[in-house]
This record gives sequence, structure tokens and C-alpha cells, in this order.
Amino acid sequence: MSSAEWDVVVIGAGAAGLTAYRDLTLAGLRVLCLEARDRVGGRLLTVHDPLAPIPVELGAEFVHGRPRETWEIVRQAGLTIYDCAERAVRIRDGKPDARLPAWELVGQVMQDMERRASSGPDISFETFIRDAKHAEEPKRLATSYVEGFNAARKEIVSIQSLAEDSRAADAIEGDQSYRILNGYDALALHILRSGSTHTGRVELNAVVHGIDWNSDGADVHFRSALAGTEDRVRTRYVLVTVPLGVLQAGSMRFTPEIPETIQAACRLKFGHVIRVIVCFREPFWEAQEDFANAGFLLSDEKHFPTWWTTLPVHAPILVGWSAASRAEEMMGEPRESVLQFAIADLARVMGYAPPRLWSFLEAVHYHPWHEDPFALGAYSYVPAGALPARRALAQSVKNSLFFAGEATELNGHSATVHGAIATGKRAAAEIINARNGE
Ligand SMILES: Cc1cc2nc3c(=O)[nH]c(=O)nc-3n(C[C@H](O)[C@H](O)[C@H](O)COP(=O)(O)OP(=O)(O)OC[C@H]3O[C@@H](n4cnc5c(N)ncnc54)[C@H](O)[C@@H]3O)c2cc1C
Repeated sequence: MSSAEWDVVVIGAGAAGLTAYRDLTLAGLRVLCLEARDRVGGRLLTVHDPLAPIPVELGAEFVHGRPRETWEIVRQAGLTIYDCAERAVRIRDGKPDARLPAWELVGQVMQDMERRASSGPDISFETFIRDAKHAEEPKRLATSYVEGFNAARKEIVSIQSLAEDSRAADAIEGDQSYRILNGYDALALHILRSGSTHTGRVELNAVVHGIDWNSDGADVHFRSALAGTEDRVRTRYVLVTVPLGVLQAGSMRFTPEIPETIQAACRLKFGHVIRVIVCFREPFWEAQEDFANAGFLLSDEKHFPTWWTTLPVHAPILVGWSAASRAEEMMGEPRESVLQFAIADLARVMGYAPPRLWSFLEAVHYHPWHEDPFALGAYSYVPAGALPARRALAQSVKNSLFFAGEATELNGHSATVHGAIATGKRAAAEIINARNGE
């Protein structure tokens, strides 16, 4: 193999890849970041739609709690961040029950689950909830929360991983969420711009499909998404940050193969989410007392049980959220059918006839993450018994291949933006250490 053009090739310019790019270029390493899309940010996807009074988030929307990784960047970039309204209204059989303490009931079940997780073998959430000594309503709410928040099927997801996530969230006051006023994409851009252009370069539309590697370095093969032309670069280290779904699909060839890493990737799950953002002409629901101050609307609807408003910002926008098995059932449906499902469910939640809602509707935003070839899903979760797979996935191979991205986070913050940022930092430090040791 010829001498390296680059010290590091980072594959992927999402939160993890950009963070590593920043840290590595600031440490003086020559870094090429290859990104398949025509933009940076990955699963941070903000649309600045003139029809919407606030930025529309198609990927991550909330900063969960006060994670240092994110807040540091927010402060440095001078971004404005605001608290979201967390008040939940429970809707049963089309009737709102604004007094039901929905989050508290979920919290009680989750505490019980944490106790069970610490005292016995790892089991699925479904096995836990079947035997749990709670009334039906808290059980139903907790199940919907676990499937919705984690994009995880209840019959698969590990209670030990959920308990770990829950403890990690508590440590950063994770029950309060925030939004970035100018949109999450501002965070991605700031991370990128904090890197050094003297030693780094980001190349967009560069789809990596092969890595020929040994313990001295690697040749990274990529295709231009615009021209279809093939290219290759030589590097000492490779940092892979592509989503778990892409690793599982096997569209990136490693020669020689890396069976431990790929087996670990296949032991984990990549969950599915379908979110629909509907922009109306006015926030008509604010006229209804039950919904006027609601942050979240929690129902049992078939496709989109969970909705949220943009409060404390009074914008005529609602977000419909469908995850895990509910989302999986809609995969393959055309966009128009997904929208029909969403409006039908929202009509029942709000007590309106669907034609009335359609008549208020101005714009709709939807990104099918499951069909997006550079994601193939929403975010990762751990099946019962598979917790060690995250560590195996994060493990570097022969001091040449390194791994970051939300699925490689080991401290209970996977599937989040701040978790992805933390893995980018961790991987950059590993590479700098490896280099210093040579
Ligand atoms: C709908 C949705 C809602 C979410 N909500 C929240 C939230 O509210 N709060 C929160 O904290 N987190 C949320 N998340 C999770 C959060 O977005 C992710 O955990 C985080 O952004 C992942 O960052 P990453 O760098 O690991 O991966 P990514 O952002 O996916 O970055 C990986 C990059 O690799 C690129 N890539 C893929 N294949 C190739 C290839 N072959 N060659 C080159 N490049 C390639 C991709 O294009 C991408 O840019 C949400 C995610 C989704 C999908």
C-alpha cells in the first residue's frame, strides 16, 4: 500500500463524524470526511420552510436534559435554546383526560422496571410488563412510552438497557427537553466550523462502499453520488460513523472482513419511526381548554398515538409520532396513505371530523428514514441479553479501523444527539492515542 494521503478518513458527517472531524483537525491531523449526502448533519435534518413560522425538524428535535456535550456547543455558538412544555394530556376513546398524571404513572412503572432490571436476568419489556403489578392504564402508558421514545419493539427491547438509559437521563435532568430556536442544523454547522480547514476537508456526495485495510492503514473506495465516478483515497486510520442500519445492510465492504464488528451490529436493533409534521393555518386546538396548554397528546390510536405541539411557541404546527411496530406496519405505504392515517388519528384525538382538519391543513413534512439509504431506520436499541454488543461495536480493529455513532455509545445515551457527539469525541481521542503510540 502506498504512503497515506490522509491521517484519518472519517466516514459520515453526522453529529459523531463532525465532532471527530473537529477534534482531529484541531489536533493537527490531516482529515478527510466523506459524506454520502449533499449536506452535513445526518439525522439532524432541519427544514427552513417559509410556510412554517419555526424550523421544522425531520430528524432530532429535542435536546434531552442538560448533556454537557450539547450545551457546550450551544453556548459556544451563541445559540438560543428554550424549554419545551412537557404537560401531557391523555386521550381515551376520543375523550381528553387532562387531570390524569400520565408522566407520573409512566415514571412509577419505569422505576419498578429499573428495580427488576438490577435484580434479575435481562428480559424484554413485554415480559416485564406482563407480570408487573400495576393497573392496566399505567401499563398501557408505559408500554406506549417505551415503544415510542425508544423506537423499540416491546417484545424485543432489553430492560437492562432501558434501565441504564433511564439512570443516565436522570443524571442530566433528562425529563426536561429543550429545542434550539434556529433549528438543530445550526448545531451541526457550528461543530463543522469549529474544526480546522488547514488540515481538514469535508467532501459531500461521496458514498463510501469499500475499505481495503490492514494494520498499516486503508484504501477507502467511494463513488460520487453526482457523477457516478469512482474514487479512492489512502489513509492511516479510518473512522466509521455510518448508522447501524447501514452497517447491518452490508452495503459497505470491508476487506478483510470484520466479523466481530458486523456480528455485534447484527445483534443490536435499528428502530423505526415515522413522524409527520402538519402545519395548519392556525392553532385551532388552542381554543379547546383541554388542549390549550398541552405539550403532548397521548392516545391509543392505531398509527399515530402520540402528538405534540410546539409550546411554549404558539405555532400552528403539530407533530405526529409513530414508532416501533406501529411504524413498521406503515413501512412501504406511500406518503399519501401515511398522511391519511395521520389525519384520521389526529381527528379522533381532537374530536374533529377529518374533512375539517384537511380544510385547515397548509403544509406537511415527512421524511421516510426507513427508505433513506444512508440511514435505513431511525435509531438503535438493545434486544434483551444483547447489551455487550454495543461495546463490541465500539471496539477498534487492529489500530486501523475505529467506530463512532450513536449505536456505539456505552453510557446510556445511545440514540441521542449528545450520545453521538460523545462517541465522536471518544473515537477522536482513541485515534490520537493510537497515533501517539506509533
Ligand atoms: C425521527 C428522529 C427523531 C429523533 N429525535 C431525537 C431527539 O429529539 N433528540 C435526540 O437527542 N436525538 C434524536 N434522534 C436521534 C439522533 O438524531 C441521532 O442519535 C444522531 O443524530 C445520530 O448521529 P450519528 O452521527 O451517530 O449518525 P448520523 O447523523 O446518521 O450520521 C451518519 C452519517 O453517515 C452518512 N453515511 C451513511 N452511509 C454512508 C456512506 N456509505 N458513505 C458516506 N457517508 C455515509 C450519513 O449520510 C450520515 O450523514 C432522532 C432521530 C430520528 C431519526
